[in-house]
Amino acid sequence: DRRQMLQEASDFILQNDDFLLITHVQPDGDALGSTLGFAHLLQALGKRYAIAVEEPIPAKFRFLPMSDRIQLASQISRRFSKIVALDCGDIKRFGRCAEFLEPQADILNIDHHKTNDCFGRANLVDLEAAATSQIVFNLASFMGTEIGRDMSVCLYTGILTDTGGFRYGNTTVEVHTIAAELLRNGVSPYDVADRVLETLTWSQLQLIREGLKSLQKDELGKVAWMVVERDLLDRLGAGDEDAEGLVSYARNVQGVEVGILFREKADGTVKASLRSKYHVDVGEIALSLGGGGHARAAGCTLAGPVDKAVAEVLLKVRESLPS
Ligand code: 5GP
Ligand code: MN
Ligand code: MN
Repeated sequence: DRRQMLQEASDFILQNDDFLLITHVQPDGDALGSTLGFAHLLQALGKRYAIAVEEPIPAKFRFLPMSDRIQLASQISRRFSKIVALDCGDIKRFGRCAEFLEPQADILNIDHHKTNDCFGRANLVDLEAAATSQIVFNLASFMGTEIGRDMSVCLYTGILTDTGGFRYGNTTVEVHTIAAELLRNGVSPYDVADRVLETLTWSQLQLIREGLKSLQKDELGKVAWMVVERDLLDRLGAGDEDAEGLVSYARNVQGVEVGILFREKADGTVKASLRSKYHVDVGEIALSLGGGGHARAAGCTLAGPVDKAVAEVLLKVRESLPS
C-alpha cells in the first residue's frame, strides 16, 4: 500500500548515497519539477547526486531552482549504482540516460503513469496522483523533511502543468490542498503560470498557426487530428518541444472524444500524442502501440511514413470509441 511504498522509498534514500536522478526524454514540467524537487530533498538530507537529461531542457524551465545542476548525457562520464527515476512509465523512457546505469543498478521508481510496469527495486507508484511532483511532496512530508520555497516552486510547476492549470480530470481536493501548501511556502502562482503556461515562444505560435491548417476530423466528429511534418518544423526553426500543447486544439473541438497530434521526428519515426475527454483510454491504445501514459493523455512513437502511422493509430482509436 501507499505507506509501505513511502517507507521503502524513504529507506532507499536514507540507506544509500551518490544517486543518479533521471526523468523521461523530452521532459515536461512534471518531469523537471519532480526531479528538481527530489534533488532539493536529497540536498536537505546532505546526499550526493547527479541529474542527467538527454538534451538541453526547454528555456522556459530554466527558472526552476537548481536547474543548473542538470547535466547533459554527453557530460556524464561514469555509471551509477543507485538510480532514482521520476515520471518514467518504463525504462525505455530513460532514452540515452539508460547508459549510465551499472548492470545491476538499484532503481527507485517514482511515478504516476497508469502503464508503469514497476521496473524498480523500490517502486513508489501512485496512479491516483495527478503528478509525480505530488508524490515527491508526499514523500518529503512522510520523511519529515522541510519543503522550502525553492523546492515548492519545482513541485508546484509539476502539479500545475500535469493538471493543465488545475483543469484536467486529475484535479482533486488533494491536488488543491497540496498546491495551497506550496503557495504558503512562498510560490508565486502568477509567476509560475505565466512562465510555463501563458508564455509561448514565437516559433510555438507559428507552429500553432501552421499546424492548425492540418486539423481534420472523422465522419462522426469524434476524432480530430493534426499532422506536423519535419519540413514545417525545419522551415519555422522550431524544436520538438515547440509542438507541445498543440494537441489540445484537436481535443478542444466540440463533440470530439479523442484528439491526436502526429509529429514527424528527425529520424523519420512519428510521435503520436493522444488526448481523450471522457471515455476512451488512450493509455491502453498507446501501450498497445509500444508507448504508454495515462487514460486521458498518452503517447507513442511509430515507424514512418506519416500516412501509415496516422492510419495505424486512427484504426485503433476508432475500435475503442464507444458505440
Ligand atoms: P505527450 O503526448 O505530451 O508526449 O505525453 C502524454 C503522456 O503520455 C505523458 O504523461 C507522457 O509521459 C506519456 N508518454 C508519451 N509518450 C510516451 C511513450 O512513448 N511511452 C510511455 N510509456 N509514455 C509516454
Ligand atoms: Mn511527464
Ligand atoms: Mn507526470
